[in-house]
Amino acid sequence: MKGYLGKVLKVNLTNGDIETETIPDAVYENFLSGVGLGAYYLYNHIPAGADPLGPDNILGILSGLLTNTGSLMTGRWMAVCKSPLTGGWGDANCGGTLAPAIKQCGVDGIFFTGISPKPVYLYMDREKAELRDAGHVWGKDAVEAEEVLQEECKVKKKPAVAVIGQAGENKSLISGIVNDAGRISARSGVGAVMGSKNLKAVVLNGSGRTDIHDSEAMKAYSREFSDKVKNANLPKFFKGYLLPIMGKVQSLQKSIAPGDGMLVGMVNKKFGTIAVNTLGMPTGDCPVKNWSGSVKDFPFKKYKHLNPDRILARETRKYYCSSCVMGCGGILDIKDVRGGKFSHTHKPEYETCSSFGCGLLSNDLNAIYYINEMLNRAGMDTISAGNTVAFAIECFENGLFTEKDTGGLKLKWGDAGAVISLLEKMIKREGIGDILADGVKSAVAKLGPQFEKFAVHVGGQEPGMHDPKLDPLLGVHFSTDPTPGRHTIGGTVYYNIMHLWNEVSWAPEVRKHPKSEDYAPSDTEALKSIAMSAYKELTDGAGGCFFAEVLGLDHWNLFTMLNFATGWNLSADQYMEIGKRIQTLRQMFNIKHGIKPKDFIMKGRLKGDPPLTGGALKGITLPIEEMVRLYWKNFQWDPATGVPEEKAITDLGLDKVIA
Ligand code: SF4
Repeated sequence: MKGYLGKVLKVNLTNGDIETETIPDAVYENFLSGVGLGAYYLYNHIPAGADPLGPDNILGILSGLLTNTGSLMTGRWMAVCKSPLTGGWGDANCGGTLAPAIKQCGVDGIFFTGISPKPVYLYMDREKAELRDAGHVWGKDAVEAEEVLQEECKVKKKPAVAVIGQAGENKSLISGIVNDAGRISARSGVGAVMGSKNLKAVVLNGSGRTDIHDSEAMKAYSREFSDKVKNANLPKFFKGYLLPIMGKVQSLQKSIAPGDGMLVGMVNKKFGTIAVNTLGMPTGDCPVKNWSGSVKDFPFKKYKHLNPDRILARETRKYYCSSCVMGCGGILDIKDVRGGKFSHTHKPEYETCSSFGCGLLSNDLNAIYYINEMLNRAGMDTISAGNTVAFAIECFENGLFTEKDTGGLKLKWGDAGAVISLLEKMIKREGIGDILADGVKSAVAKLGPQFEKFAVHVGGQEPGMHDPKLDPLLGVHFSTDPTPGRHTIGGTVYYNIMHLWNEVSWAPEVRKHPKSEDYAPSDTEALKSIAMSAYKELTDGAGGCFFAEVLGLDHWNLFTMLNFATGWNLSADQYMEIGKRIQTLRQMFNIKHGIKPKDFIMKGRLKGDPPLTGGALKGITLPIEEMVRLYWKNFQWDPATGVPEEKAITDLGLDKVIA
């Protein structure tokens, strides 16, 4: 048992029982830890048809197999549950400080069942685990509650705290779980599940390293990786104002060639994800006006205000998740913003800038900082919230909502003040905010089918802010992943720089990749998507960061690190079988809970129906049904239904390890 602890904590919130359960080595050998252990546990323990907000749902909070082992960029944790947003598999990944703290308390994960009769939090250290009254922090935002709990539970150092804000307490289906003062595991409605259990927080006070197979080799590998990242820098003259030019050049290229992932790492290190704010406008990557518009509706003179240089000018320090050496995050001084309600905020991600920028035709950066902090504190997903606000504005613009419906708010594109007021209503579930607090699919179900055409979602989940018409492989992940609409699995550019084909025998090698207008579905393209899915599940089972994954095998090699940690000495192909096993089990979870995979295939504006009338993606409609069919077929899932076939289940050995 190297790299993992072989135990989980089980907490029954209904009766207060807490016990540790030993997990057999075979589970780690088949699924790693993190998302894999979560899929194994939840598949076996959540009954079919369980109410996602009821006592039978299980919320898991898990660390990765490589977390706390001396490896780098492996400090991300995973929340898992049955999603109240999609009705199927739910997971949400997050950085910050919580992941190593889980293992430092002596377990690989914590699983909560039942519903507590009153608000509680879990306190855990190496010696004890107990439920404590949370009445004094219920109603507080995530940052305030974290501060209070850190102070009252402090021993030698401040404990790590995962906590919900008011959105989670109010069971908003687009709420998440927050740690480190604003890092949020935002997707799948995991915050609503935590809120439904009356569980305000998890407070972890552990210490110590995890025993691994070859710590010298891991140390040397980490040193080498750290030096590479340290020495990889964009030239000083490279500023944010150059990003739209880079985007323009990209949009003129006829194909996407494989390159060195460290180049993407250099951009990420310098700017963080906000590089895409302006880089992605000329290419069409950034969705405009509730996914209906293009750069013609939000031209350079507007989007230039979202230049990352302006954001970095506010950065007081860089921010690193646990074990990270890249530091795509940052802390911004926002004392002068909107009356100084907040003194600082985590640097907003591109997704937030886009959801509340081009998505709403707004270039008001100050409003974006304010919204970022407001939603992080409330524990509400900025992607879903932004998409839902865009939906509301378009409904208002088309006469489906009136001022009477909105409580006097005149919703219009680019009006950040009205957006902030609407978000306040959503957090409090006040008036129309009560309907919108559960995302667009739920809103349509309550409001009526005439609202459907403005609701952009995939299987109930508002998608990440990247247009799949630019990158068809992204569209495959939006449509095939058991957590639909997911933007952090892969895409053409990522596949080309990860160089999986160097070690994975079946991963197709590419010299160049056609752009979306020339794209044709094929088995080869499907295999690329499958390779990315499998490698992503491994990354999430290991606690790795997506931005390390996309540096490619030449720089950050998961297979190598997993062997150093476990001593299993498996080949890349054998590890990829584990990735496929996790992905297949997540899909089987969905089937068990009544999901029809066809319902997760993106439709309407996302696939280009109707096509955009301007910008780089003008006229494109993706053949997404055929792309999905080929993904399913090559995964040995039924190509017509997406249900894993008997042969896939036995080939992956799933019949032996699950009930
Ligand atoms: S690159 Fe960014 S998201 Fe990834 S671990 Fe580092 S700070 Fe966290």
